[in-house]
Amino acid sequence: MNIHEYQAKELLAKFGVPVPIGFAAMSVDEAVAASAKLPGPLYIVKAQIHAGGRGKGKFKELPPEAKGGVRLARSADDVRAAATDMLGNTLVTIQTGPAGKQVNRLYVTDGVDIAKELYLAMLVDRATGRIAIVASTEGGMDIEEVAHHHPEKIHTITIDPATGIMPHHGRAVAAALGLTGDLAKQAEHVTTRLYAAFIGTDAAQMEINPLAITDDGKLMVLDAKVGFDSNAMYRHPDLAELRDLTEEDPAEVEASKYDLAFIKLDGDIGCLVNGAGLAMATMDIIKLNGAEPANFLDVGGGATKEKVTAAFKLILQDPAVKGILVNIFGGIMRCDIIAEGIIAAAKEVSLAVPLVVRLEGTNVELGKEILANSGLPIVSADNLGDAAAKIVAEVKKAA
Ligand code: GDP
Ligand code: MN
Repeated sequence: MNIHEYQAKELLAKFGVPVPIGFAAMSVDEAVAASAKLPGPLYIVKAQIHAGGRGKGKFKELPPEAKGGVRLARSADDVRAAATDMLGNTLVTIQTGPAGKQVNRLYVTDGVDIAKELYLAMLVDRATGRIAIVASTEGGMDIEEVAHHHPEKIHTITIDPATGIMPHHGRAVAAALGLTGDLAKQAEHVTTRLYAAFIGTDAAQMEINPLAITDDGKLMVLDAKVGFDSNAMYRHPDLAELRDLTEEDPAEVEASKYDLAFIKLDGDIGCLVNGAGLAMATMDIIKLNGAEPANFLDVGGGATKEKVTAAFKLILQDPAVKGILVNIFGGIMRCDIIAEGIIAAAKEVSLAVPLVVRLEGTNVELGKEILANSGLPIVSADNLGDAAAKIVAEVKKAA
């Protein structure tokens, strides 16, 4: 789960990480009012979207020479102009894809004078099973370029979970950032506090770019990208509230409400399956029959009728779907429950595409009987190979 920059900075500030003061704003007037609470004379007006590269981004609605999603402002009028340019418009960055993202929130912060921009990140490194710190002297807007052309300028330091963060880690970070004296001390402090925030929130990543050295010799976090381990969110109800659903794929948001594992794909055969392994096998066998799956959807082991109904609707919402294959092994889950869910959903959404159902397991006979008596044009299949061949044939016939 990702959060906005302003939320990340408020969170990091609570852990003692140095950030400039700032205020979120949902309207132009709020942005101007926010700047009035800041010392000035420099203000930064920043588009809040779940994507980086905002500074170099372009707004679809503005002329190409217009500035991007991070603006320097020196007066209330500047702030007003920047906010007017951004709010409601679509920002396209290297991370948003060509469709871009609509800007609905701004962050107005105290502008600092930057002497140098550094890079500092923490993430869970699966290869070592440790939290890794990534540090570079080459911070700013082109870290991807640095990683590509000058990998030697990117330093990685891993932390043994048995010891947690130690003073030597902080010193290693300071050295990797090329800092000495008081700035090195500040780097050690930032590293320790960032680690505390990382562990304390069950984070998956925290990326500070830039970590700025200011003209008056202070280290300051100017941009923060923070994401949490979704599986740990039950431990952090306060953080779960920071979720901004408008930043996520609507179908995947709907799926998560019902605890369904749903991923949209490019093909035209919708799949409703229980268990990730069976879902993989189903996708494979669809491909083997010369077609492509439209999605991956695992309703899980203990699905209810409501869950199956929601899953079915989700598949049918996708206009690319030309046929549906339901492949359920009723072990924990009973086949009659599945059958009822399918019928309820098919009736609610008026099913207009062919539907092949393969049920196996507990109460399979009852399940098949419920489907056969439903009056719906459901094609029944006996095994996986039969089911895949049937749905591919049905879709071809309908085309
Ligand atoms: P990103 O483009 O989405 O990564 O957004 P950032 O928050 O990193 O801002 C992009 C760039 O704007 C930074 O690399 C800085 O060069 C500049 N910037 C951000 N905050 C400030 C600030 O307080 N003062 C000054 N002078 N520049 C800033
Ligand atoms: Mn940045």
